[in-house]
Amino acid sequence: MSDKPEKLITDDGLRLDGRHADEIRPMKIEIGVLSRADGSCYLEWGRNKVLVGVFGPREAHPRRSQRADTAVIRYKYNMASFSVEDRARPGPSRRSIEISKVSREAFEPVIMAELFPKTAIDIFVEVLQADAGTRTAAINASSIALADAGIPMKGLVTSCAFGKVDGQIVLDLNKEEDNHGEADFPVAMTQDGEITLLQMDGNLTPDEIRKGFELAKKGCKEILEIQQAVLRKKFETPVEEPEAGV
Ligand code: ADP
Repeated sequence: MSDKPEKLITDDGLRLDGRHADEIRPMKIEIGVLSRADGSCYLEWGRNKVLVGVFGPREAHPRRSQRADTAVIRYKYNMASFSVEDRARPGPSRRSIEISKVSREAFEPVIMAELFPKTAIDIFVEVLQADAGTRTAAINASSIALADAGIPMKGLVTSCAFGKVDGQIVLDLNKEEDNHGEADFPVAMTQDGEITLLQMDGNLTPDEIRKGFELAKKGCKEILEIQQAVLRKKFETPVEEPEAGV
């Protein structure tokens, strides 16, 4: 781990990557990048790079995993061994199992699984490059990949973390801020603002949490706009102008 810089927020209020406290990192999304998946998404968020493939609804195997009244949703978060500075140990870890569980739960309220009994909807996440906030990046990408797969959902899920750095509440921590900051709170929410994921690492006062939530809502709103623009671009059919005189 690198040594803590003297300040993570400069005297003019800017963070070391030049952002204000309430700014998210730049995000770039590509949709439909995997031809074998039913839906897919590649997302870059700051220095994070994640790839998501969605498969299904398809017959659930093994058969004992099937549920007569609903689809089972499976979410697998995996970090490539080359995605972090020191090699990440391949295979499941306590961390990846936890992230997979909470991320699946972040989608359960919106996916209309009851329409597809006995099937499975698989969401596979590969983190190719990690720089803090990979679970939130993966949730944002999964939302797009699910929509790309045509899975009926009540709305998109959007995710962003807030935290505390040099005593200040900030949005979307990068790796340096995550390493040396005082708190990190990943949040996911539906389009209606219903919270579907909330985790906390570190301590904040109730006032700081309230302030952080306001930032997270702002961040999620901005991300939702990016997600919607990407989906609109792919799925909106252009309306043909009638020919003049017809
Ligand atoms: P998130 O990526 O969702 O913020 P964490 O807070 O657990 O999840 O991790 C923060 C960052 O720490 C990751 O994005 C990654 O850059 C780094 N990290 C996580 N796991 C490992 C690991 N096994 N080896 C090296 N770095 C890791």
